[in-house]
Amino acid sequence: MLEKMDKKFDPEEVIEEFEMLTKDAERVQRETLQKILEENGRTEYLQKWGLNGRTDPGSFKACIPLVTHKDLEPYILRIVAGDASPILTGKRITTISLSSGTSQGKPKFVPFNDELVDSTMQIYKTSFAFRNREFPIANGKALQFIYSSKQFKTEGGLEARTATTNVYNSLQFKNTMKAMQTPCCSPDEVIFGPDFQQSLYCHLLSGLIYWDEIHVVSSTFAHSIVYAFRTFEQVWEELCSDIREGVLTSRITAPSIRTAMSKLLKPNPELADTIYKKCSRLSNWYGLIPELFPNAKYIYGIMTGTMEPYLKKLRHYSGELPLLSGDYGSSEGWIGSNVNPKLPPELATYAVLPNIGYFEFIPLRDNVEAQKHDKPVGLTEVKVGEEYEIIVTNFAGLYRYRLGDVVKVTGFHNSTPELKFVCRSNLLLTINIDKNTEKDLQLAVEAAAKLLAEEKLEVVDFTSHVDLSTDPGHYVIFWEMSGDAGEELLEECCNCLDRSFVDAGYVSSRKVKAIGALELRVVRRGTFQKILVHYVGMGAAVSQFKTPRCVGLNNSSVLQILCSNVVRSYFSTAFC
Ligand code: AMP
Repeated sequence: MLEKMDKKFDPEEVIEEFEMLTKDAERVQRETLQKILEENGRTEYLQKWGLNGRTDPGSFKACIPLVTHKDLEPYILRIVAGDASPILTGKRITTISLSSGTSQGKPKFVPFNDELVDSTMQIYKTSFAFRNREFPIANGKALQFIYSSKQFKTEGGLEARTATTNVYNSLQFKNTMKAMQTPCCSPDEVIFGPDFQQSLYCHLLSGLIYWDEIHVVSSTFAHSIVYAFRTFEQVWEELCSDIREGVLTSRITAPSIRTAMSKLLKPNPELADTIYKKCSRLSNWYGLIPELFPNAKYIYGIMTGTMEPYLKKLRHYSGELPLLSGDYGSSEGWIGSNVNPKLPPELATYAVLPNIGYFEFIPLRDNVEAQKHDKPVGLTEVKVGEEYEIIVTNFAGLYRYRLGDVVKVTGFHNSTPELKFVCRSNLLLTINIDKNTEKDLQLAVEAAAKLLAEEKLEVVDFTSHVDLSTDPGHYVIFWEMSGDAGEELLEECCNCLDRSFVDAGYVSSRKVKAIGALELRVVRRGTFQKILVHYVGMGAAVSQFKTPRCVGLNNSSVLQILCSNVVRSYFSTAFC
């Protein structure tokens, strides 16, 4: 495996392989399932369902039920506790990934193994090969806002950390980044530092030190890039002073980071002056990234789904630099590569790699009754224009696993579908007969935020809550804004939010007062940062952080952070 990675990879060869795999996706899917079932046929789980060594799709679907994480949890917990028998996989699982678990409020355990690292590298290399055709980069470095999570050993002695940390830890990751001519500019000690604020500061510092070699600015999820440059706005003078003196600020206390950064940092008053001048000249930080890193060719990271609300700010920092969305996957495994990098993030799609797992799709229809009878269809049976919930079977012990994502098929690359991420499948907001998803919430917030734009204000972040403590219950939207807005404007925003939920069940319930007036609660600056810090404290990685878009009573600590930071609140008068 190592030898394979050490040799310089040829992007055209990667594309050729991808074309070959996707030309006969149906066959590749069958073979992939066969391989998974051959490797794991003797496991307790597959035996329990009576598969009896069969490896064909028909028997697999007939015997093995669709499951959620909750169904598999008892098996996974036995692995976590150290049971070494073949429970879910033939080969023993020695590492566990902690998924971000934003929706439940606590991380979930997911089995991790080398096959997942392999497929991650295949996904990275595939999208890089296509990206490099359109946006070629020469030998350089990447300013990557990546962070490891806390790591610990489970009671059974398994390594547990987030999936991204598992990947960053692997030798393959480093080799692949080198092969892509974009090794991370920051020392490892910064990525694996004990405190993400200190790591973030030093990522920025490393980027500035290597300013002319930075060809790509990236992160796993786009939130981390926006967060980094929002922080830059606060600390830029301190960064300049470190560069001028060649001495690291005393705010960096982690000895490992201090030692590593001291090796990079030399007094450079000229560079400090240049950065100072550039920053002073900018208008409201527009175009900050290309100003600091004039050789950067693009910005890269996952920008779809729950990341879309950050695009506006990201475009502001990026000026004319293109934004290229990353790939599509999860702690449970990767799904597809972005092979059309020229599409703007709002239109980004992901071509499924048919050899990294076995994929099924539950058709989603408006008619709930009809949907109950719909059977999942195979990868090559999906139809353009339709929406589906995605089901994953992978090499790490997940069989017919409902990932909880809704995707739309936008077309095919050869015979593999190209998917657009739509939203998480669980409904966020529902009280009565109303049904609103994460996407509906995002659209409502976007509509209302347009009113703020006239005052040059923006929504920094947002979430929601269903408040059933009132009768009737009502939707609450929490907003953090970049500055102060007048009462009248916020009342207008509140009404606009209420009117923007256009779901018929919501509108009719509002009209007959079966749902109360929507409430907009404005929270203090920094509230969403507190939520991030809270998740990181629980073992989440900043690299995988996604703001929870709905906070239920079961997520009491986050709700507490939100409620204790409310500075103003408004009730809609839209349906009076
Ligand atoms: P995690 O829990 O950190 O493993 O996050 C995995 C989830 O992140 C997926 O199930 C999706 O909901 C979301 N996600 C991952 N990649 C993308 C993408 N390219 N676009 C939109 N959402 C994504």
